[in-house]
Amino acid sequence: MIGNKKDLRTYLDSFHQGHTEFHQSVLTWYDDIKEYYHVHKECSEENILERMIEPDRVLRFRVSWRDDSGRVRVNRGWRVQHSNCMGPYKGGLRFHPTVNESILKFLAFEQTFKNALTGLPMGGGKGGVDISLKQLSIGERERVCHAFMNELYRHIGEETDIPAGDIGVSAKEIGFLYGQYVKLTNKVTGSLTGKGLSFGGSSGRQEATGYGCIYFLECMLAAHDMELAGKTIAISGAGNVAFFTAEKALQKGAKVVTLSDSYGLLHCKDGIDETLLENIRTVKVERHGSLSEIKSKRVEFHKNKTPWHIPCDIAIPCATQNELDESAAKQLVKNKVSIIVEGANMPLTSKAEQVFKKANIMVAPSKAANAGGVAVSGFERTQNAQHMSWPIEKVDERLQGIMEEIHTACTEDINKYRGVYNYSKGANLAAFKINAKAIIALGAK
Ligand code: GLU
Repeated sequence: MIGNKKDLRTYLDSFHQGHTEFHQSVLTWYDDIKEYYHVHKECSEENILERMIEPDRVLRFRVSWRDDSGRVRVNRGWRVQHSNCMGPYKGGLRFHPTVNESILKFLAFEQTFKNALTGLPMGGGKGGVDISLKQLSIGERERVCHAFMNELYRHIGEETDIPAGDIGVSAKEIGFLYGQYVKLTNKVTGSLTGKGLSFGGSSGRQEATGYGCIYFLECMLAAHDMELAGKTIAISGAGNVAFFTAEKALQKGAKVVTLSDSYGLLHCKDGIDETLLENIRTVKVERHGSLSEIKSKRVEFHKNKTPWHIPCDIAIPCATQNELDESAAKQLVKNKVSIIVEGANMPLTSKAEQVFKKANIMVAPSKAANAGGVAVSGFERTQNAQHMSWPIEKVDERLQGIMEEIHTACTEDINKYRGVYNYSKGANLAAFKINAKAIIALGAK
């Protein structure tokens, strides 16, 4: 039995050896729920902690595919099915060279609690392949997707496990994956989300994570008597989440001064406008190019730099896990940042988190702030089951409703401390309670 943090560390070292990202997300989470867990004996008697930490199963398989030169290449593929207590496993697929079991386990763990916060009947999972498709030809990209699905298809289904996209997997790859799924199973069902509109996708799915981040941010600001218009925002990343976060922030009258990619930082002192954003989207999404290719007198490109030294009111890391470290956090505090919104999953290192906590700066955790993407995936599932498609107005209204409900759930059981809510604690506690209820109800499964 895990009685304290030391026991938890021993447990993780014994059964999840070397899986550092997984340790990080579980240990941070434990800090927020431990008081509740140890006081509520029904949780400890049912050994909820170990049952929440241990994934239901980790599937690992070989992904072999032939490149354009005729050589057979081998990659590793995974699906982590973390928990199906609240509904079928649900979560994205990441195609990136850094993908490994630790990263997918942490993402699946986070996903279970994120999905709980949406209030929709979805469990948690995550999968992927240790490859980037960026430099591959279109034929190679298709063959990698098919090779991955040739194994994955037997483990997923609309009532079992419903993957979607994540880093390196956008509508194009979902199309290839879904095409192969349909071919192998002869079933045209909602077994994947993030599909294109012409084959069962939901309107607004692409925009959902980024728009959801801004809807959540607006709730935070309102709860602290502030508003978004006129605020200066630094965003990292230049993918789907970063792009639509920037788009919605602009629509709401905020000033977005940065975006970034693996090559460096794009700084626009006067604020990115809609034309420039569209130009960036064409270069990044359509041409798979670099931000350094953006030609405009209004922007500066800084090679190998991140946005965190640029003064801002709000910082929204939207690139990847652990992208914002202790020194970046100190720099942001020095520049008087007032809110951090986690657009990516776990973008703050543990030390960065401590810096913000000490400085009493609000941090919206990814479990809450970026839940809009999976929420609209939930809507896509519903539309597929209904054999219908909803208009964008309905999707957007429901998305806003869910982000507001998540904000309420994050704040209703905690008090403000030194004038601000601890959103990490609020989100972890709310999600823990929902998940614990389901686990206890289902017995020792
Ligand atoms: N990958 C996204 C996330 O981190 C979306 C998952 C989904 O839509 O299932 O939440």
